[in-house]
Amino acid sequence: MKILVINCGSSSLKYQLIDSDTEKALAVGLCERIGIDGKLNHTPDGGEKITLELPLKDHKDAIEGVLSALMNEKYGVIKELSEIGAIGHRVVHGGEKFTKSVLITPDVIAAIEECNDLAPLHNPANLIGINACTATMPGVPQVAVFDTAFHQTMPMKAYLYGLPYEYYDKYKVRRYGFHGTSHSFVSKRAAEVAGLDLNNSKIIVCHLGNGASISAVHNGKSVDTSMGLTPLEGLIMGTRSGDIDPSIIEYIGKKEGKCLEEVMGVLNKKSGVLGLSGVSSDFRDLDQAARAGNEHAIEAVEVFVYRVVKYIGGYVAAMNGVDAIVFTAGLGENDKKIREMVCSYFGYLGVELDTEKNAIRGKEQVITTDASKTKVLVVPTNEELAIARETIAIVK
Ligand code: AMP
Repeated sequence: MKILVINCGSSSLKYQLIDSDTEKALAVGLCERIGIDGKLNHTPDGGEKITLELPLKDHKDAIEGVLSALMNEKYGVIKELSEIGAIGHRVVHGGEKFTKSVLITPDVIAAIEECNDLAPLHNPANLIGINACTATMPGVPQVAVFDTAFHQTMPMKAYLYGLPYEYYDKYKVRRYGFHGTSHSFVSKRAAEVAGLDLNNSKIIVCHLGNGASISAVHNGKSVDTSMGLTPLEGLIMGTRSGDIDPSIIEYIGKKEGKCLEEVMGVLNKKSGVLGLSGVSSDFRDLDQAARAGNEHAIEAVEVFVYRVVKYIGGYVAAMNGVDAIVFTAGLGENDKKIREMVCSYFGYLGVELDTEKNAIRGKEQVITTDASKTKVLVVPTNEELAIARETIAIVK
């Protein structure tokens, strides 16, 4: 069966058409500037990227653009719409309502809407994508795959904040965690690659991309994760601050004459390694600047690594040990220096990095020596394939 995987943002729509038998992406693409003017990038498997300037006034236009690209005579990959057997949607926030992926029904749409307050930038956009698909492809089953669902197994001690309990009761203020599809996919695959029994394993997954989070996966279940009510908590990221003393918000607001929204904007968009370095949110730029002697770029990387190390150490304590530490996402898969810096803190766990193996990029591999007490691995994430797998499991 061919599965269309959709990841909708407020003005963008990423898609992949995946053949569930071969698990190959037949085409990948991105619609941008929806509601402004419109651009569609489409790449068929083995073919060249095609860029189309299309008037995309809304997400329905974008879906129609995607379908016509998929069926195009020259660069299309299917002949008829009926070849698409199901649609899988990434939905960012499922609150406490969704502990796993679900077939989309009117009740499910209403329940996702109820989670809108928890992810005001993301969930409404995800719903627009769902509604646009319903309008364009009525009758094709759609599945919602939630970023938060994998972490719903966290125990109360990991998800409650030290706040008045009524905020949890009334407003569901708690840790939810994100990147769940990635943490789930990568932990399962890591167990296979490392030769561990998933149901009897302690795995720490470091999803280090522009957004970054770490999770503790005990016997295949998430027991803790670094992102919280929103993706702002935890690690220092490309542009997000991660953990800070909450009093800083009031202090900076007063000093800089900024309102709450403005300070939150700084924490989300101007902080992280971008804010620390003043150079870039991209680690490739930081590396270049650091090599040229930029002190702030060097510091930003050290501060980033130190936070990663503290979370890993915390999760080793939480699980009373660890069998494997796994790196994934843009930085985790590609940056050998960051992996080396992180691993250098874990001599006490018997981590012995194999420098040659660590030189790989974007490939599945154990990067420690055979003698290493704790295994460290690189496992590329593939959220789209994970969504396609969830979708097929539900519609079959
Ligand atoms: P993601 O959000 O998973 O796409 O990851 C994006 C981030 O990964 C970028 O901002 C870079 O910091 C990092 N990254 C991607 N490719 C490389 C690379 N080849 N070397 C170092 N860092 C990389």
